[in-house]
This record gives sequence, structure tokens and C-alpha cells, in this order.
Amino acid sequence: MLTSKLEVLVDFGPKVDAQVLDKTLNELKSHDGVKEAVFKDGAIMVDTSLPSSRVLEMVMNTSGKRAVLQGFGETQSAVAMISSQACCNSRVLGVIRFQQSTEGPLVADGSIDGLPSGLHGLHVHDTGDLSQGCGSIGSHYNPHGSSHGAPSDPPHCRHAGDLGNIVADEAGRATFRIVDDVLKVWDIVGRSVAVTERRDDLGRGVSPSSKEDGDSGSPIACGIIARSAGIFQNPKRICACDGVVVWDEKDRPLAGKGRRVEDREQKRCCQKETEEDHMRPCCKV
Ligand SMILES: [Zn+2]
Repeated sequence: MLTSKLEVLVDFGPKVDAQVLDKTLNELKSHDGVKEAVFKDGAIMVDTSLPSSRVLEMVMNTSGKRAVLQGFGETQSAVAMISSQACCNSRVLGVIRFQQSTEGPLVADGSIDGLPSGLHGLHVHDTGDLSQGCGSIGSHYNPHGSSHGAPSDPPHCRHAGDLGNIVADEAGRATFRIVDDVLKVWDIVGRSVAVTERRDDLGRGVSPSSKEDGDSGSPIACGIIARSAGIFQNPKRICACDGVVVWDEKDRPLAGKGRRVEDREQKRCCQKETEEDHMRPCCKV
């Protein structure tokens, strides 16, 4: 079982409720997909083969408190914020996290909302050029000049970027954890990852585009893959540089008008952070 280490921050307030914490840890540990769950340095550390969104759900349901993913993966990690990139029409939104150990496979852990229900192809593309939205990200990442295939195919029979299909449920949400032996995090930072409008036929179809993109249609949402914090690498506890506290951030849109906070709120937040963290200049308006 290839597991990933998650650092989950729970909104316990000023004092941790030991009873609630125990109940939460026990609930996590009782699950087959959880190898270990401990409380360390103010966060719950979970070693698991479950998608991170599933673990967050379990923590929130059991503790009755808000929780966010603070860190993911022990060594090399990357993240992509997925959206349709089109102005004013970004109904698809999600996050994909990538984790890589030096010798082992890559884990792509994601949750995407707003998709039409059913199967959609997921691919790493050649470039991180979003100048024309998802239309300028190039072809599937293909360093070996192969034709399109399935993630289970050998490296010379698939694009390195071919991650197969994800499934969106009736509510439009796709939650997934893909383990891949071909892709490496260090090869894909700066490139992009995209979700397509249709199912990927994994190169087995009769359509001429089957060997190119699995006849999966155009990307409907995409995002640039950027390096990210692994566990214990993200010191943010109180607020981000735009003044949004970590708990508010959970309920706030990623961008746009709803993101802004009042100056007063922001100042208060900055003072709190100054007490917490003297080293980091932040919260410049
Ligand atoms: Zn491909």
C-alpha cells in the first residue's frame, strides 16, 4: 500500500479538546486506508492511501470542527489549482496535489468540482502557457515520442502525461488518488494538468484522435503545476498575505471580489500574525 503523509490542521480554537481529538484519531485509525494517525505540533498527521479530501471529510465529520490540509507529501510536492480559466465563466474549480518519493511512484491526489457527471480524461500537458486559457497548454507531455495510451501501458506505449480517467459524481465532484510509475514531480513542475470534456478511450478507440488524445475532446479545466509545501514546511497558521485567515480561506473563493477583506479585519489579522511569526513580513495592502 503506497501511502501519503498528510498534515491536517483542525480548528480547535485556543485549547485542544482531548476527548474530541482522541475520538477523531481513533476514527481515522479504524479505517483500512489509514496506516497511522497522530497529533503532532498542533496538527493531525495521517499516513494514508485515501484521497486527502476523504480524510478531511472524516476529520470534520468526527470532530465537528473545520479542518484544512496544511501539508502533503514528505519530499517533493507540487500543486495545481484547476479552473476553466475563462473569464467570468469558471464553474469548474479544483486542486490536484502531486507527491513524489525519490525512488517511488508519483501520487496525484485531487478533488475537482463543477464537472459534468461521468468520465473525463486527466493529462499533464507540455507547457504551462495559459495565455489563451486551456487552449495554449500544448499536447500531452510526451518526452519519448510515444502515442497516446493508458497509465497502465509501458512508457513507450503512452504519453508520460497520460493519467487516464477520473469520474465525476452526480453532484459534479471528482475525487481521486492516482498512483503513477512513469511521471516524476521534478519533470512536471511548470507544465500544466488538464481535465477533458469527454472520456479518454486510452488509445483503444477507432477514431483517428484515439492515438493522440484518447478522443477525449478539449480541456475544460486546467492549471499550472507549481512546487508546493510538503508536511512541516508551511508555517502559515493565522493569515495569508491577503489577510484571509486560514479558516476563512476555506469558505472563500480563490479569487475575485469575495476574496477581499476589510482593512480593519486585515490589520487585526496582521497584528495576530506579528505575535505568532516575527520573521515573515506580510499583509501588505
Ligand atoms: Zn496522451
